Amino acid sequence: MSGSPSFDSLPSGSLPPGSPQSGSSGPLPSGPPQSASSGPLPSGPLPSGPLPSGPLPSGPLSRRALLRGAAVFSAAAAVPFVADTFAATPAFAAVNQPDIANCAAWGARPPSPSAITVLQNRPNKIIVHHTAFPNSTDYSQAHAFANSRDIQNLHMDNRGWGDSGQHFTNSRGGWLTEGRHGSLYGLLHGQTMVQGAHCVGQNNQAIGIENEGTYLEVQPPQALWNSLVLFCAFTCQQYGIPPTEIYGHKDFNNTECPGLLHDRLPELRSAVAARLG
Ligand SMILES: [Zn+2]
Repeated sequence: MSGSPSFDSLPSGSLPPGSPQSGSSGPLPSGPPQSASSGPLPSGPLPSGPLPSGPLPSGPLSRRALLRGAAVFSAAAAVPFVADTFAATPAFAAVNQPDIANCAAWGARPPSPSAITVLQNRPNKIIVHHTAFPNSTDYSQAHAFANSRDIQNLHMDNRGWGDSGQHFTNSRGGWLTEGRHGSLYGLLHGQTMVQGAHCVGQNNQAIGIENEGTYLEVQPPQALWNSLVLFCAFTCQQYGIPPTEIYGHKDFNNTECPGLLHDRLPELRSAVAARLG
């Protein structure tokens, strides 16, 4: 976040508005907005374009995710595909789905339509950021939601992007929220991802998570760390990402982000591997 007075220096131009999209992309579902993570998945149409035909995640899917996947994909005659894995994985649910509040839950603004590009590929890594926002001592979910709105406003109004740049956000109180619209849908199904705007050169292959706060000189609260571990474990499980493929923003761009969290990446990878079992 060097050179930025108030925020992680997410690179400008990483998501040119109105730029032509690749042929493998499609728009978001035009159905109703996603419900809160504790509720059912949207009943609207799937994203246009072919369903992903790649392999299922190599790691065990949670029973909950499988059931959800079966419910959604049944319309596409993919039930046997899911059911086979279900039957062949007696010891599933290594990592249960964490509570991740979707965009509707925290009051996100509608994205600009050109900002949302669904990529028909799975991400191959996770990139950890810090927001470079103040280290708030308000650890409530209400504050986490306000933080998500602040980030989206910054990205849309100051950066000129069509939506939040990152896929997900983690608060100092340990509350997880969806960032860019469609990110949670992709995560729960484990086959596609929404193109992000969080790290130049990696936006079409890395899930970006913004951690609230500035960690150049201080460590994050334990609650933030715990939810980061859980989030990364679940994301690795859903997408089949090896825990070794968790990085920090500074590994790819000229930035100090994510500060001391970068020093703890080996610890994070180990903790995630332990959660995955
Ligand atoms: Zn960053």
